[in-house]
Amino acid sequence: MNKTAEAPGTEDDELIAQAIAQADEERERERKAKQDAAAPVWSNLFAKKLPPLCTVHQKPCKDFIVKITGPNKGKRFWLCSLPVGPGYDMGRSKRAREDVDPRYKCDFFLWDSANSQKETPNGPKKV
Ligand SMILES: [Zn+2]
Repeated sequence: MNKTAEAPGTEDDELIAQAIAQADEERERERKAKQDAAAPVWSNLFAKKLPPLCTVHQKPCKDFIVKITGPNKGKRFWLCSLPVGPGYDMGRSKRAREDVDPRYKCDFFLWDSANSQKETPNGPKKV
């Protein structure tokens, strides 16, 4: 049976993304505390950046916005662009490394504020 028509649910993807963002909130809070009163650079929010590459697949990531009410609401973050599938990487604490299927989403997570991928001086290539 050919099941290619069954596209991975973007809603599932979204839910997982939100869950990951929430889980990362505490780590982020610690980091923020260290950053102290470094003012947010608003221009960064509008500067076009290239998507970071996930560490496992080296593929351009997909961006999400935190929708959960909380300190990170509205913040942009990046996740592996591969679909969620059986054995996708839920993170070391939830799924053993040997059970992870590399064909699916890895547990790459990056706040956009930490994304160091910048546009090339000549701007993005038009395709
Ligand atoms: Zn990946």
